Amino acid sequence: IKTIGVLTSGGDAPGMNAAIRAVVRKALSRGLKVKGIYKGYNGLLNEEIKDMTARDVSDIISRGGTVLYTARCAEFRTPEGQAKGAEVCRKHGIDGLVVIGGDGSFAGAQKLAALGINTIGIPGTIDLDIACTEYTIGFDTAINTAMEAIDKVRDTSTSHERCSIIEVMGRGAGYIALYCGIANGAEDILLPEKYDYDEQKLINNIIENRKRGKKHHIIINAEGIGHSASMARRIEAATGMETRATILGHMQRGGSPTCTDRVYASMMGSYAVDLLAEGKTNRVVGYRNGEFTDFDIDEALAMQKSISEYMYDVSKALSI
Ligand code: ATP
Repeated sequence: IKTIGVLTSGGDAPGMNAAIRAVVRKALSRGLKVKGIYKGYNGLLNEEIKDMTARDVSDIISRGGTVLYTARCAEFRTPEGQAKGAEVCRKHGIDGLVVIGGDGSFAGAQKLAALGINTIGIPGTIDLDIACTEYTIGFDTAINTAMEAIDKVRDTSTSHERCSIIEVMGRGAGYIALYCGIANGAEDILLPEKYDYDEQKLINNIIENRKRGKKHHIIINAEGIGHSASMARRIEAATGMETRATILGHMQRGGSPTCTDRVYASMMGSYAVDLLAEGKTNRVVGYRNGEFTDFDIDEALAMQKSISEYMYDVSKALSI
């Protein structure tokens, strides 16, 4: 391997910059050249590629978002698009590629690996929904951002003795909702993996909690369930308790990454370069049982992840 390319793809996540910085500097320190590819696979196909020096990644470790920008690219899902991607890599002398993104981005990396470009994936998503790893870049920052926002809603909810539905990100995965549910002491947590859409149970729980002397009722609702505003109207009508919905939205994707996200992203970026330097390809970096490790992309994509039943039970037990 002589030249490493790096790109960010799919949804952005705080800490991606720390990973880019680590890839660039670790590669340079190993005597390799590095090229930044802008706007994900889109930029690869359009040859938006730039040589990276150590100074090009100065001052980015503390910044959210991704300096390489990110995009979704329909063309790259086609065999023609993938062949063109491999061709562009060869044209620019890129013989190793680091892809920072989610499962979709890894599926793209897998295709490039099959076409002879050595590729390594790094899990970057605020949703934590990548099965092979217990850590993904951006999750820690996102839950801390959401937790602080929910604390603020909780204060006013208590003062006015309201029910508050707070919608957090997570279309298919409820990890942000589960963590915030525990961290913010929510009375109910609605997870795409668990919610049975039985609103009557929710209503009964609110009435019971009221009888137990609770001043507020916090419901953390995952984006995948959604409909927070209409849910609030129905709950208010059924319980008589003033109910408001707050959708946190994209604020959860941004902001300066936490220490954990900066450190783990730096470790993963560095680890990815080491894998490429060893001649490895078609691997995803992961974190499991306290260690950084790596998996075959095919195996990683076939793995399933399920929400911790024990954590969910704990959230219920602590909300009485
Ligand atoms: P997240 O869902 O966390 O935002 P992701 O990486 O899963 O991240 P996707 O939109 O699924 O996001 O994928 C990002 C890009 O990866 C797509 O726009 C496409 O260019 C490429 N990609 C996704 N799936 C495939 C596939 N099966 N084959 C080739 N390329 C793919």
